Amino acid sequence: MWIFLNDKFVRKEEAVVSVFDHGFLYGDGIYETLRSYGSRLFMCQQHVVRLFRSAEAIGLTIPIQREQWPELLHESMARNDVGTPQRDAYLRITVSRGAGGIGLDPRLCPSPTIVIMAQPLVAPAAAVYDTGVDVILATTRRNLPSALSPQIKSLNFLNNVLAKREALAASAFESVLLNWEGHLTECTISNLFFVTDGRLRTPSLECGLLDGITRSIVLQLAKEQNIPVEEGRFTPTQLYQSDESFLTNTSMEIMPVTSVDRKPIGDGKPGPLTRRLCDLFSGAREQFLEPASLQ
Ligand code: PLP
Repeated sequence: MWIFLNDKFVRKEEAVVSVFDHGFLYGDGIYETLRSYGSRLFMCQQHVVRLFRSAEAIGLTIPIQREQWPELLHESMARNDVGTPQRDAYLRITVSRGAGGIGLDPRLCPSPTIVIMAQPLVAPAAAVYDTGVDVILATTRRNLPSALSPQIKSLNFLNNVLAKREALAASAFESVLLNWEGHLTECTISNLFFVTDGRLRTPSLECGLLDGITRSIVLQLAKEQNIPVEEGRFTPTQLYQSDESFLTNTSMEIMPVTSVDRKPIGDGKPGPLTRRLCDLFSGAREQFLEPASLQ
């Protein structure tokens, strides 16, 4: 495996960062994950924009220009023999504050550490989409946006890790996190949707959640089809009593949820609107891929 580290590709064994790196010491840094379908990156520009937005939010200057990222990502795929017709790629970009003396002052770190990893995408098995997944409501609350905005894809991911531990302890696929007011937000690595009386509902960004790129596509597709959409403040009871639910993220796309805290959602099977949105998503995917000329 070849890793892009700072300014060049090195073998996995040589891809090591300093114990003084502030990403390691303080979680001071940001990341982004994206995927390809075959050789074409999905929503590449949007991921790069979000990477730079996260960096700006923590006052970190990324020394690689926006325009250079698509080419670098393609080289990462090519070097690792992923992003091929046989193997979709999963890519992770990490940018930390870099190595410096111990202490929180970002000025201790003269240059950021940049890492790109590219490996085969491991998506859930097709059967999981047929049965849907179980989720739980975590007791861990989502970070207060004024303390650490969930819009920043930060290396400080302990909030999500703690909720993930709860999901694992309950043998659930994901944890839904509530915010400081007890309203639904999102899951540890995915956004949450549910359907009530034909209305598609998802927590609004003000509830404190990442504006997921897949979430925005689902909202766009639903609006184009005149499916009623509500972004708002919702309670756990509204989720328990919903007719359908699903999760979204880049690598799994739309994943049906068939139980919450072991209580079935609807009839305990993936619902009709969820299936329709899955079909719409597959049909529209082409328009969200890079133009063929970039490959
Ligand atoms: N919410 C969180 C906390 C995430 O980490 C992710 C994925 O990285 C998502 C939602 C889904 O975002 P996207 O659709 O951009 O992959």
